[in-house]
Amino acid sequence: MTLQTREQHIRRERATSNICTAQALLANMCAMYAVYHGPEGLRAIARYVHSLAILLKAGAKACGLGVSDTPFFDTILVSYPSDKAQEIIESGWRKNINLRGYDKRTVAISLDETSSFNDVCDILQVLSGLENLPFAKGDLRSVEILSERELRRTSFLTQAVFNQYHSETELMRYIKKLENKDLSLTHSMIPLGSCTMKLNAVSEMQAISWSEFAEIHPFAPAHQTAGYTKLLKQLAGFLAQLTGFSAVSLQPNSGAQGEYAGLLVVKAYQKAKGESHRDLCLIPSSAHGTNPASAVLAGLKVVIVDCDKNGNVDFIDLENKAAQYRERLSVFMMTYPSTHGVFEADIQKYCDLIHKYGGQVYLDGANLNAQLGLCFPAEYGADVCHMNLHKTFCIPHGGGGPGAGPIAVKDHLAAYLPGHCLVTDVGGNSGIHAVSAAPFGNAGILPIPWAYIRMMGFEGLKRATQVAILNANYIAHRLRNHYEVLYKGTHGFVAHECIVDVRKFKKSCGIEVFDIAKRLMDYGFHAPTVSFPVAGTLMIEPTESESLQEMDRFCAAMIAIREEIRAIEEGRADPVNNVLKNAPHTLAMVTASSWDRPYSREQAAMPSEWIRENKFWPAVSRIDEAYGDRNFMCTCS
Ligand SMILES: *Cc1c(COP(=O)(O)O)cnc(C)c1O
Repeated sequence: MTLQTREQHIRRERATSNICTAQALLANMCAMYAVYHGPEGLRAIARYVHSLAILLKAGAKACGLGVSDTPFFDTILVSYPSDKAQEIIESGWRKNINLRGYDKRTVAISLDETSSFNDVCDILQVLSGLENLPFAKGDLRSVEILSERELRRTSFLTQAVFNQYHSETELMRYIKKLENKDLSLTHSMIPLGSCTMKLNAVSEMQAISWSEFAEIHPFAPAHQTAGYTKLLKQLAGFLAQLTGFSAVSLQPNSGAQGEYAGLLVVKAYQKAKGESHRDLCLIPSSAHGTNPASAVLAGLKVVIVDCDKNGNVDFIDLENKAAQYRERLSVFMMTYPSTHGVFEADIQKYCDLIHKYGGQVYLDGANLNAQLGLCFPAEYGADVCHMNLHKTFCIPHGGGGPGAGPIAVKDHLAAYLPGHCLVTDVGGNSGIHAVSAAPFGNAGILPIPWAYIRMMGFEGLKRATQVAILNANYIAHRLRNHYEVLYKGTHGFVAHECIVDVRKFKKSCGIEVFDIAKRLMDYGFHAPTVSFPVAGTLMIEPTESESLQEMDRFCAAMIAIREEIRAIEEGRADPVNNVLKNAPHTLAMVTASSWDRPYSREQAAMPSEWIRENKFWPAVSRIDEAYGDRNFMCTCS
């Protein structure tokens, strides 16, 4: 898992995974379940669940039902001599019980630690059709449980972390201790370019904890999900309107999964037209790592298109390559505004060119925060685009998801939107196979974008976009006398993010982009995106959520750091032993009894006035840069 999340970024078209936004938050929730219960707690839960399942099985037998004698844990199958499964399932609904149809004659029942003995009796009434069970409840309890044969004998979860936080107070403090190491949006702005770290308002998120949303199974019968279905349909409609496309699939769980789905949709369309020989994808060198990685996963060969000195697609190169590969051209993947943070004025020209050669245009819509309400990707000529609902539409994604990356398509592609083998009402008529396990992907978080759109309204969304663009230009402008802003559009402006070029400092005094990123931590800021899409640069995206005061603090920090660099350039600070090379400074460093640095502790850790009342202490200083991304190791005790 560790390798996969970095692989697309580092290895691009040679990657074997396109994962960027992962499910790290959900993985952490699972981990905390194990931390809280520990091996003994998990064993107790398992014993309880298994013993309930044994009672269920014994009860079913006592009712004269057909139960198989194969080993089982939490799930048993009950078979009927005739096609009765649907009838049994429907009688379950009347008691608020959902059973699974295994085949026409068989139903499957799974129990878990939230099931009770009374539930088992209710289930038996449904399975047998008997209001009065032919045995006393106490009789079932006496049934011998647990077969030693299937029990696990090896030990597990032996690490300390799984054996010391077994009270709620202890667990709470443990989680808080971890949280304290994390600089989040609750401290200061997270200017990660391309990641759109905007406010996730409580009013947008509140509803996802309601049981009406949180406790619906992905395969719950349609009559139980009328509200959810309405919300999902409305959301898909809003997204279609906001992008100008005609149909939307909510299934992909991330932007990268949307890319994969969109490319498969294009391939299915081309196959239906008798053009399955089209197997090649053109991608500009500026593209996000997921683009080439997704193209390869979708079975396409990737050809990279150059960018010109202004950061735009090199049109001559695009024209040459489209012509050269005209027979094989399947799709052109383009991010707009580009990852260089500019609106490419020629986007329509690129799309026309690709269509002329029979290709389709995939628009990477991760940067929709620069477009919403102002312009419509379908109008530029794109055929399909994904949206990162966990960026533009306020789903929190710090730490890696859960994400939602729906795709929107034009009419001619709608028939191929992904379907689902268990749910009929999903996707197009000739839909490709499902791209995620659940029919509507991470449906549990979709009330967030729905609420965001409903509360903002079209004018509100447009205003947010305008402010996001204004904020990025404000920062670019404030920094212009101190740093070089790498790319600008035709009129001298950036889009919703800007790239600050710090490469010249390596020559002038040995300072690199990492040193600046680490030093920003001493000033209480999360580093911007580093070395993407241009190595040795910082990409800054303030979003519409940041106030003028916060942006001024950030700019002040950047400008102060420029002066610290100047001190090294001019020989006033040591080229190796300086505030930048030693950043970030931890509490342990500045409170140690000895201090032998040529600068003061105050300069190290309290370099500005506002930090004094809101100091965030980095937990560790530098370790080994990207070494850990490339060299996978386990730190188990
Ligand atoms: C974030 C991003 C992606 C990938 O989206 P995930 O949801 O992280 O998979 C793709 N392209 C661009 C330009 C992005 O910023």
